[in-house]
Amino acid sequence: KELMGSEQRVAAETHVLTLPLPFQGHINPMLQFSKRLASKGLKVTLLSFTDKEWTKAAEHGSVNVQIIFDDTLFAEITDQEDTVYINNLYATVKRRLPEVVAKHGESGYPISCLVYDSLMPWAIDIATELGLLGATLFTQSLAVSNLYYEVHQGKLKVPVEKTAVAVEGMPPLEIHDLPTFLFDLENYPLSLKLSASQFSNIGEADWVFFNTFNSLEDEVLNLMARQCAIKPVGPTIPSMYTDKRVKDDKDYGLSLFKPDVESCMKWLDSREPCSVVYVSFGSLSILGERQMEEIACGLKMSCHYFLWVVRETEKEKFPSRFLDETSEKGLVVTWCPQLEVLAHKSVGCFMTHCGWNSTLEALSMGVPMVAMPQWADQTTNAKFVADVWRVGVRVKVDEEGIVTGTEIELRIREVMEEETAIEIRKNSEKWEKQAKEAVDEDGSSDKNIQEFVAKLICNST
Ligand code: UDP
Repeated sequence: KELMGSEQRVAAETHVLTLPLPFQGHINPMLQFSKRLASKGLKVTLLSFTDKEWTKAAEHGSVNVQIIFDDTLFAEITDQEDTVYINNLYATVKRRLPEVVAKHGESGYPISCLVYDSLMPWAIDIATELGLLGATLFTQSLAVSNLYYEVHQGKLKVPVEKTAVAVEGMPPLEIHDLPTFLFDLENYPLSLKLSASQFSNIGEADWVFFNTFNSLEDEVLNLMARQCAIKPVGPTIPSMYTDKRVKDDKDYGLSLFKPDVESCMKWLDSREPCSVVYVSFGSLSILGERQMEEIACGLKMSCHYFLWVVRETEKEKFPSRFLDETSEKGLVVTWCPQLEVLAHKSVGCFMTHCGWNSTLEALSMGVPMVAMPQWADQTTNAKFVADVWRVGVRVKVDEEGIVTGTEIELRIREVMEEETAIEIRKNSEKWEKQAKEAVDEDGSSDKNIQEFVAKLICNST
């Protein structure tokens, strides 16, 4: 709602800090949520653990960016399952947050609340010590969170060794529908601990926000809401995609990778509506050489145009002769402006790893999906894409753990050409509408954001 005179002034002085985990899939939803708060009149500062070029560009937007990076942060980290990493984040926040809060206090814009990524549950203790309110933002689905919650409560025993599990409020889940952390403890010991720890002190947070929306996950929302006051605030996509009045908010994400905006958009502009398969596996997934080869083969056999994101670090596995063979059919880039791509009329489907952001973004843009999950929560998201929301199909993995070119070709045809495509497109349009309604003015997610803002303003007066 529009704020009036003095209220507007108080809002502009109400200062919120936001603290994302330094991964692309965590930065994007936190930044977009920050922008929503700023659009309601609050002053918002996003604390960044990275000192990449992109932070400078971001300073020009509605959200201020303050870097709390220091050289020790990523030192001596061998992989993501390394506890040093989380310990470093903790130590940095513990050391830097009091300085940040004190400095803003002196400048006349005291901080009233910290919004932190749910994977840093300890942030609430630091915030409380500093006299701040605290809100946690979950950047995975409610369904996946519910599974981690079950683990946290000891209701779901890990590692899951059964072939299927029944969890209240969820469809029957086979082992390959579960987050990989729940059964592969050997490879992901820290990830499971971290995921379950999101609930360790949830009662201490003043708000519990989720990047989802009511109608998308109503059953599991009703179930979890009995135990904790969950507030969906998603999908956290830029307002320009949901509100026709917003024209120029192209600054939709702070990219850790450099997107090839011009060539992607120019290439898409020259294609027919719904003729392109957009392929991306997000910011972290690592594919094997053989799997890359099969994807290339499947795309070629499908005979559709394709825009394929192969990150710089994945490039050496890319079958380069494939490009010579298909140069008139496809474009391969190291990173793209994904939201702009999904919103482009030429894109007919999205072959995705089903990261939660990619899933929500495709759903919000009404783009049908070919789900090819790799690890973490992507498997559960893929299950919902194919069997619950029915906005796509999921590929089958063979005995060697490979998705063959033939399988890929068939699934692409299923969402692009066959009878099934009509039904999938219809469902996609339905969810697109509901996603936009949720974040539109007075929609279910917008109301939760309004309430949060009103409470903070009230506290400041
Ligand atoms: N993304 C992008 N360009 C690309 C690929 C991905 O902008 O070429 C963005 C995408 O829009 C999403 C994020 O990166 O917001 C990836 O998050 P997601 O949760 O889908 O996957 P993750 O990278 O965490 O596995």
